[in-house]
Parts: sequence; C-alpha cells; structure tokens
Amino acid sequence: MKRNKYVIANWKMNITKSPHKVIDGVSKHLLKTKKNSCRVVLCPPFTHLATLSTKYKNLDFGGQDCHQHNEGAFTGSVSAYMLKSIGCNYVIIGHSERRNYQKESNHELRMKLIVAEENKLKIVFCIGEKLNQLKIRDKILKKQLSALPSSFNTKNLIIAYEPVWAIGSGKTPSVDEIDRAHIKIRNILNQKYKRKSTNISILYGGSVNSKNSSNILGIKNVDGALVGGASLDKKEFCKIIDSSSR
Ligand code: PEP
Repeated sequence: MKRNKYVIANWKMNITKSPHKVIDGVSKHLLKTKKNSCRVVLCPPFTHLATLSTKYKNLDFGGQDCHQHNEGAFTGSVSAYMLKSIGCNYVIIGHSERRNYQKESNHELRMKLIVAEENKLKIVFCIGEKLNQLKIRDKILKKQLSALPSSFNTKNLIIAYEPVWAIGSGKTPSVDEIDRAHIKIRNILNQKYKRKSTNISILYGGSVNSKNSSNILGIKNVDGALVGGASLDKKEFCKIIDSSSR
C-alpha cells in the first residue's frame, strides 16, 4: 500500500518578520518542482492563517491546535470549525509543548480528535516519549495512542512520532531507533484499526533539518516529517521538501 508522504511545517509561536516571503518562496518552489511527491502543509500561528490560506491556494494550511468544542465561552481558543471555515484542512493535536505547558490530558485530546474529525480536518496527532521515558518508550506510545477513539475515520489521521528530547535540541534518534519506534506505532494502529490502519501515514519530528532529512525521510517506515525550527527558513525548508522525493 502506498501511503501519502507529508512534509509539515510547525511555526509554533515564532515571530517571522515576513511570513509571506517564506510562504511565497515555498509556493513558487513547489510550482517549479512539480515532481514533488509529498504533500506540503504549513501551520503558521493563528494570526496568519486566514490571510495566508486565502492568498496561497496551491498550499495546504493547518492550525497548531484546536479547542475540544466548536464554539462557546472559551476565551482565547480557536475551534476546529473555525479553522475549517477559513480554508484550513489540517490541525496538529497533542503536540508535546501543549501536553507539557497546557497540561493536555488523554481525555481532552480524545475530545479534540473527535471534534476535528467531525469537522473533516486532517489530524496530525503527535506522540513521543520524554528523555526519562526512553526505556519505557513503547508503553508511553501505546498510552498516548489510546486517546484515539476506536471508531474513527483513519483516512483523516496522520501520526507524528516526536521524541520530546529531540524537539529543538539538535539531537535525533538513530535511523534504527526511529524505524523501531515507527514499526511499534504501526503495530499498535494495526491492532486498533485492523485493515483501516494501512493508510495512516506516520511522520517523524524532532530536529529535522536539510542535513539529516535525506537519511530520516529515506527510512522505510517513515512517511514524512513534522518540522519546527527548520521550517522558518525558506531555503532550508525547501531542501527538506526536495529530500522527501528522492
Ligand atoms: C516540533 O516542535 O514539532 C518540531 C519538530 O520541532 P523542531 O523541528 O524544531 O525540533
């Protein structure tokens, strides 16, 4: 089964002086290099989403989070419904920074997954162990994946395996370790969704850059990358996109 490949940019809350310049560069690059077999998705801060998704119709955009309800008295939050209504097709759910700083629980994440799926957004569900959990990594991955409802449209589901200790640290697991973690995740998904799990892409995230992307994206069980820091730089991000099609 041929799964979709993705390269997804997570800009987090970084201030980019000229977000249009970066996106413009990525957009032109994609138009020029039609051979690209991967899907490119950009997740800038909420404040840029509406203008960028209206302007760049050849690109896919996503939110970095959504609330677990569609509307209501939830000051400061943005819903899946709202993302969809401004032309976003993707949303990141369960990023480790939100699990850590916003204390997002498995229960809350399950509600977000359900509401995002109801709004027909493609979900990038992030999981991954902390450094002190390396020895119990498989147990942690299983627990985090248990937030996924057993009845779910897997066509809209993408998993991002992001070891917390690799995010923004410049460190990455070895190719073998990444492969092993992805096989484990695939097995858990197989058990949960049976045949329907085969179309779920599993991405790697954590310190991906233009120097290591060919190695990482070349791993058999890796279906793409979720990129943080390196996605803020047009040239760097375009090189990562290119390495996904080799
Ligand atoms: C991330 O936060 O999703 C991420 C992968 O960050 P970085 O690439 O900067 O490690």
